[in-house]
Amino acid sequence: MTDWFAVEPIAPRTWLIAEPGHVNCFLVEGDDRAVLVDTGLGIGDIGSAVAAVTDRPVLAVNTHSHSDHRGGNRFFTDVAAHPSALDTLAQEVPPAQLRDYLAVAREQLRAYDRMRADDRRFFHLFTRTTEPRPLPPDADEWRVPGGPAARPLADRERIDLGGRELTVLYTPGHSPDSVCLLDEGSGLFFAGDTLITGDFWAHTPDTDLAAFAGTLRWLADDVAGAVSHVFPAHTLRYRVGPDFLRRAADGFADVVSGRSVGEPGADLLGRSVLRHEFGDFTVLRPVS
Ligand SMILES: [Zn+2]
Repeated sequence: MTDWFAVEPIAPRTWLIAEPGHVNCFLVEGDDRAVLVDTGLGIGDIGSAVAAVTDRPVLAVNTHSHSDHRGGNRFFTDVAAHPSALDTLAQEVPPAQLRDYLAVAREQLRAYDRMRADDRRFFHLFTRTTEPRPLPPDADEWRVPGGPAARPLADRERIDLGGRELTVLYTPGHSPDSVCLLDEGSGLFFAGDTLITGDFWAHTPDTDLAAFAGTLRWLADDVAGAVSHVFPAHTLRYRVGPDFLRRAADGFADVVSGRSVGEPGADLLGRSVLRHEFGDFTVLRPVS
């Protein structure tokens, strides 16, 4: 067990299990069992990190099939996801994709080393929970195998944890297999990549910009009233208020209608995109 994961209580019986600078996973515990929302990169043993927090049986739910949300599935026996994610989850992530990601992760660490002293002197934004960690010593051996077989989750399905319930909401847009999880009793909304306090990825081949805008409008209109905290899967700002649902929906509406004019730029992997800046978040979309 390395200190790759940052674990922090964020609400009663609810924890952030983060790979700081990479992925935010969340553990939600009931009386009978717990749900882990996303399993991260799979470069560290998230099974041990979770077992150190809860002794309940754990269901791992992938918010979608992108590799950084299912990398640690192999540490669990009980996995669930949207039906259209299941084929991808059964396959290994191509090793070349992981090598490319590692190169960017090392670049990110060098960036953090350069800025750490300035942050401690001037800004005080990094905390123990959010400071990026050195890569595990065996990072070059990183593999993400397929499986275990995931069971399908239905839209509006309620996952009973014992005295606590999570509702599955189908939220296509970022990917066709995206879901969010709502803990209505506590007002907690686990957003996956459907809400991001940084770059919204709406430029990859499996993104549907119009569907993404429609999902965000629906969340703002029909779900935000039940939400007190939103927990996105990326960036160091892992908790935002429900107003973010409306602002994200408005931003996407401006992108779809052409009211927002994007600027040429790049995503974190260096691929060309159009960037639509909205102050505390950005919508990335394809150049063409
Ligand atoms: Zn994604």
